Amino acid sequence: MKKEHVARAPISELLTQLPSVDKLLQVTEVKSFIDNFGRDEVLRAVRQTLQATREEIQKESLSDSPNEVKLVGDIERILASRSKTNMRQVINLTGTILHTNLGRAIMPPEVVDAIAKAASEPCALEYDLGEGKRGDRDELVEELLCELTGAEAATVVNNNAAAVFLLLNALSNKKEAVVSRGELIEIGGAFRIPDIMKRAGAKLVEVGTTNRTHAKDFVEAITPRTSMLMKIHTSNYVVQGFTSAVPEKEIATIAHEHQLPFVVDLGSGTLVDMTQFGLPAEPTPREAIEAGADLVTFSGDKLLGGPQAGILVGRKDLIQKIKKNPLKRVLRVGKITLAGLEAVLRLYRDPAKLPEKLTVMQLLTRDAASIAQQAQTLLPKLKESLLAASMNIQTVSVLSQIGSGSLPVERLPSTALSIEGFDKVGEKNIVRLERLLRSSDTPIIGRLQDKSLIFDLRCLQAHKESQFIDVFLAAVSKLSRSHASHQA
Ligand SMILES: *Cc1c(COP(=O)(O)O)cnc(C)c1O
Repeated sequence: MKKEHVARAPISELLTQLPSVDKLLQVTEVKSFIDNFGRDEVLRAVRQTLQATREEIQKESLSDSPNEVKLVGDIERILASRSKTNMRQVINLTGTILHTNLGRAIMPPEVVDAIAKAASEPCALEYDLGEGKRGDRDELVEELLCELTGAEAATVVNNNAAAVFLLLNALSNKKEAVVSRGELIEIGGAFRIPDIMKRAGAKLVEVGTTNRTHAKDFVEAITPRTSMLMKIHTSNYVVQGFTSAVPEKEIATIAHEHQLPFVVDLGSGTLVDMTQFGLPAEPTPREAIEAGADLVTFSGDKLLGGPQAGILVGRKDLIQKIKKNPLKRVLRVGKITLAGLEAVLRLYRDPAKLPEKLTVMQLLTRDAASIAQQAQTLLPKLKESLLAASMNIQTVSVLSQIGSGSLPVERLPSTALSIEGFDKVGEKNIVRLERLLRSSDTPIIGRLQDKSLIFDLRCLQAHKESQFIDVFLAAVSKLSRSHASHQA
């Protein structure tokens, strides 16, 4: 049907029909916006709306006279969009449990409570309550860290990258640090061992080859300028095939024969034996210390399951030296981190309860059958609305990954919901649905793989299930509505 031609009023006339800022501020709804958002915000939104409308008129893209209802709607949209927080909770169904871009470890309620308390009241962060004078913030967690790792001393900085940087600057500035060539890692986001070394003032001495390094390679590399022998856990890749690495114990012996410290960057480093929970083995700081490491570094928000932090444990004299370095002050952590870290470490005093109490461990140990069961329960609740938009949903077996460079090749069996379009319209809808879910108030993050939209359910906690369904159905209905209007 041909659109009826509407004679357009001249631009100048349309412009004069626009209400003034003051007039708009007198509209009842706009007045109520002022109560909610404050006068400045509303004034800003009113001006922005009028400006945008003026531009539309000038571009002749507005067919009718500007009406108040539309203007008020625009004002409301601007206000709503500006009041949405930038830091948004998301539902992580990517299949990666420790997703660096989605904030890594989710923390258990005990840890969240401790963080909230530290944030909301004065606390003895760096205050010796016994003596009534200035204290040392590391002491809040040092004893726990020593107890859990077997180390003599401990200190904490902003993240593990900072821990490695700090120890290199403190112990290896203008000196040489010896590392196997197979361990010169790059971790996503510009953490490369050779660059970090250079910035920290240390000279990297690579020994061995990419696939094989032998004890004599370390021995031959030692010079009067050597400051340490170092081992870096190759946390996001494995070297397979004809390989050989020198066991930690042996490097430690070589180091100690030359009065050098042996330093281990563990990366993830969990504090317990993961195999007791049926999970793949991951080296622990305690094992490294028992093998003779003088210093071990690891992250707070990887397998440990706490806040972002870099933890250094080891020999007392070395930790002392590190703490005296001015960069320690630059890289120090705040009360929020320390409160969270203390609370999470306390959970490790009862390892048997970790699968129940530590959220990361809960997610890692969820058994495949319960995830499959959850998928079966969700399926019928989502199916019908998808069918109406030319999409099909089914359950598929997938493998979750741990993420953040923990256990790079190990995968955990899981179940996902997989959505596919059954015709051209459906295929387009898959892409649009992914975008709509991602831009929901509570975004749902899955992955597009070939022509399917995949949601691994391992990280869908029971208390998030109904929210997931609501957000999902709202997005599908939005899709169907806009679809219907496109066709009309
Ligand atoms: C993750 C990791 C780092 C960096 O730790 P952040 O806490 O992300 O700063 C350093 N080294 C290794 C081996 C790692 O796995």
